[in-house]
Amino acid sequence: MAELQREAKAEGLWALGLPEEIGGGGLGFLPYAYVNEQVGRSEHAMVALGTHSAQDATMLHLYGTPEQKERWLRPLVDGEILPSIGMTEPEAAGSDPTGVRTTAELSEDGSEWVVNGHKWFTTFANRAAFTTVFAVTEPDAAPHARASMIVVPTDTPGYEIVRVVPVMGETAGNHCEVRLTDVRVPADHLLGERGQAFAIAQARLGPGRIYHCMRWLGQAQRAFDLMCQRALEREAFGSPLADKQIVQAWIADSAAEIQAARLMTIDAARKLDTGDEARVEIALIKFFGAKVLHDVIDRAIQVHGALGVSADRPLERMYRHARFARIYDGPDEVHRVSAARRVLRSYAAGEAFRFDGRT
Ligand SMILES: Cc1cc2nc3c(=O)[nH]c(=O)nc-3n(C[C@H](O)[C@H](O)[C@H](O)COP(=O)(O)OP(=O)(O)OC[C@H]3O[C@@H](n4cnc5c(N)ncnc54)[C@H](O)[C@@H]3O)c2cc1C
Repeated sequence: MAELQREAKAEGLWALGLPEEIGGGGLGFLPYAYVNEQVGRSEHAMVALGTHSAQDATMLHLYGTPEQKERWLRPLVDGEILPSIGMTEPEAAGSDPTGVRTTAELSEDGSEWVVNGHKWFTTFANRAAFTTVFAVTEPDAAPHARASMIVVPTDTPGYEIVRVVPVMGETAGNHCEVRLTDVRVPADHLLGERGQAFAIAQARLGPGRIYHCMRWLGQAQRAFDLMCQRALEREAFGSPLADKQIVQAWIADSAAEIQAARLMTIDAARKLDTGDEARVEIALIKFFGAKVLHDVIDRAIQVHGALGVSADRPLERMYRHARFARIYDGPDEVHRVSAARRVLRSYAAGEAFRFDGRT
């Protein structure tokens, strides 16, 4: 991986989607969508090309102090350290982070945050230099102003990795259960302002979701390629699988769905480049893209029969990751609800939701 990363830097392919002023390639969302469509074909390319930290780098870039940027953003963009984010907790519904129970209180002299809580699915916590912890600092404030983001280095006393959570047969993964017991970090580890965690999370998740959707297109293309190749090669009942109409229907449905997801992703990326937050478009593509990816891989597995669920082919692993995609960064249902509410808001105001973008 280190060798690949060096090559990527030498070729000018490093961190292409990040702003130039923090060491990235400065590509807009639309050109980056096309790059990521290729990157997404390989599960290792994101790390090899230095874009795995993009969401955390965006957060630090927008909200970090100069000291925080020097300490964490620069090494993050250079690929020297890994980040992690601790929002989700076993005891509270992650879909609704207003229920977060982790707390952070200022010490009596105001010099330190004392963090206590229980997180899980903190991806990469076991390898990360820090976890940005979503914690309640303003218990009496309105629900969306109660929490703050605090950067907690993973080697701080009281920061404990309880276990790596096994997920769908993966026992050596990176999704960690973390306990924070009287973890003390300097007061200047607060990211942004007190009570701003939701705004910061939105800045992270909006672009982050579209990066996922772009990569899923590459994964879907790969599954589609494998499905079509296998259908042509494998014979049953006297003819190739490709001759069976049911397999042809799977191929046609997959082609239509992938292209629809692709054009929706490109449309959202284009809107983001014009400064539009594209909240409806991103919500639509997050749940639609995840479902398309899931269904295309599922059909590709079916065409492969037993080989499809074996680890001799990449499909079973791709399938597990596609299943996760329908849950992480907000489950399908939350994005459906959010898109529908925004659309309905237009109608309640006597307007319409225009697909052509005109108002
Ligand atoms: C692979 C993976 C990696 C992850 N990485 C991270 C990470 O690095 N950091 C982190 O903090 N978290 C991470 N997560 C956690 C993820 O963000 C949460 O799982 C997600 O927000 C859902 O929260 P929950 O699991 O508590 O489900 P719950 O909130 O308990 O929701 C359960 C189900 O309820 C339904 N539901 C929820 N709301 C509604 C609604 N309004 N209408 C209808 N149905 C609804 C949905 O079907 C949902 O799947 C990761 C998860 C996975 C699977």
